[in-house]
Amino acid sequence: MATELTWQDLRKRSASPEEILALLQITRPPVDVRQILIDLGVEVEFVLQGDLPGVSGMLQIKRDTGKAIIKLPRKHVLGRQRFTLAHELGHLMYHDIGDEGIHRDDTFTGNRMEVEANEFAAELLVPMSFLERYAEPLKYDVDNLASLFEVSTRTMEIRLEKFATIALGNEFLYG
Ligand SMILES: [Zn+2]
Repeated sequence: MATELTWQDLRKRSASPEEILALLQITRPPVDVRQILIDLGVEVEFVLQGDLPGVSGMLQIKRDTGKAIIKLPRKHVLGRQRFTLAHELGHLMYHDIGDEGIHRDDTFTGNRMEVEANEFAAELLVPMSFLERYAEPLKYDVDNLASLFEVSTRTMEIRLEKFATIALGNEFLYG
């Protein structure tokens, strides 16, 4: 990779998804979120579901070593794993995860932190600047775009809705 950035550097500046992509010179889908984490010095551990019952993902910052670890079930499908990794990176960038240094996710819902981490994940995996280049050539086809970006069709639907809203807004303002 081009830089020697660590997650600690990026957390200090609460780096946005677009900033992280720019800093790491990632310019096209699919965004390799696992590689981003590895490059930033975050450990990724795939575990058996039985080891983390009911948990979709977990972020841990070790008190003694300061190491960041993300754990997730290995049996989840790729799109879901990628979303989980991006979601946990969002927590790592933006949130104080408390005295225990552990944040457990089961449903990715519940409070402002979860909403922010979900938005972070969506923007990291499907940046608007990438959609601008690919949505029209692929005729706004949800399945094709979802497979190009390696996200679930649900995630892609939500992003395309937002993309359309922004495009309509621009048309209204400038059209
Ligand atoms: Zn969460």
